Amino acid sequence: PAAKLVKMTAMPEMVALFNGSGGIASLLIGWGEIQKSWAESAVLADASEGVERSAMAAPDPVVQDTLASTADQLAHAAVASLSAFSAASIFLAILIGGVTFTGSLIAFGKLSGKIKSQPLLYPGQRIVNVLLLGVLIACGVWIAVDPLATAPVYIAVVLSFVLGVAFVVPIGGGDMPVVISLLNSYSGLAACAAGFAVDNTLLIITGALVGASGLILTRIMCLAMNRSLPNVLFSGFGAAETSGPSGDGEQKEAKILTPDKAFYMLEAAQRVIFVPGYGMAVAQAQHAVKELAQLMEKNGTEVQFVVHPVAGRMPGHMNVLLAEADVPYEKLCELDDVNPTMESVDVAIVLGANDVVNPLAMEPDSPIAGMPIAEVHRAKTVFTLKRSMRSGYAGIDNPLFYLDNNYMVLGDAKATIQALADEFKGEE
Ligand code: NDP
Repeated sequence: PAAKLVKMTAMPEMVALFNGSGGIASLLIGWGEIQKSWAESAVLADASEGVERSAMAAPDPVVQDTLASTADQLAHAAVASLSAFSAASIFLAILIGGVTFTGSLIAFGKLSGKIKSQPLLYPGQRIVNVLLLGVLIACGVWIAVDPLATAPVYIAVVLSFVLGVAFVVPIGGGDMPVVISLLNSYSGLAACAAGFAVDNTLLIITGALVGASGLILTRIMCLAMNRSLPNVLFSGFGAAETSGPSGDGEQKEAKILTPDKAFYMLEAAQRVIFVPGYGMAVAQAQHAVKELAQLMEKNGTEVQFVVHPVAGRMPGHMNVLLAEADVPYEKLCELDDVNPTMESVDVAIVLGANDVVNPLAMEPDSPIAGMPIAEVHRAKTVFTLKRSMRSGYAGIDNPLFYLDNNYMVLGDAKATIQALADEFKGEE
């Protein structure tokens, strides 16, 4: 029911909560298992003491020897009730589960706006995190060497919660989808460790599958943004205020166009591409854009949708929205399919996208240098549909807005698309 009820834009938050649940479940399995071992060990130790007392009280030396040897065996069993391997598995389930739990809660808070999405940075942050990890590793070694020691387990539980928070707070809200993918992988690894702790093969296999696939997805997302994982995790990307007007944008002149004027160019176009971005998700313009595409096709125009791998705020964000609106899958193209033929595109409609069409990515010094983009600046005409001249997630100016072939069609993306569709309908 939760998955049915959740809004598409809130999907990353829900995944964050699910990851957190997986993490705490693994931690609790580890916790339960070690409590069970401690209880077993206490029972055996008690029994050993009881037998030892009986041995001392026994009058017959032969009975004394037999009871003393039994007491020895029981004492040995009490100490060995948990192997070093099981203890280490339990520790990992607690460590990774705890980090996943609190890390996912912070990610959920940042995505849902319940806590500030800006990265929280302070001096010596990395040293604090490394120290935390160091103490946790020491606890792990302690637990493996002396599985009956209770102190390192309590410390590990508390510090793993602290590390989860410390790990996610320095990361900006926009990078949360990458973090969620990583935490998803962690929840799998925690389950895998819990599987070893309770000797459950199914849990080991499913945990390992989730762990590996989450890591692969994280890597794919980083590659598509041309950023390394350490850069996502430690750079505090997005710390600068990104909501103001972009850079020196206001001094330059951008050409503004109204939907009724834009319609005439669209009506005459042979080939049109849509490049959707985060703004399409915000405006929920996917159904309107499908209708407009159909009207243009009826008018004899070839229409395609160019889907950038990190357009929006989660992997496959645009694909899911367009699929929801029943846009045929064969109309969706990848960058490599369209970029080489961009000169033959009559109109490229940038639909609430910004960074993924920013030509600055081709300049080595820009913050998004090397990020693959939809090279719409090479199209004959570009319509950029957004509400203002503000920058996108990366917080940098977009020179596309000021190019000779670009027109800004300002306003909510859904309203603009509907206005264009109305123009087409009016011509029918
Ligand atoms: P951007 O965030 O760069 O730009 C989105 C644009 O949409 C904004 O400039 C905004 O401009 C506009 N917009 C917002 N609401 C509306 C609306 N209602 N109507 C019209 N326009 C609107 O998004 P992109 O999709 O181009 O790029 C994605 C960015 O997110 C990349 O930098 C990527 O690295 C990053 N990212 C993506 C992840 C993923 O998995 N997809 C994960 C992590 C990061 P205005 O306010 O003026 O309307």
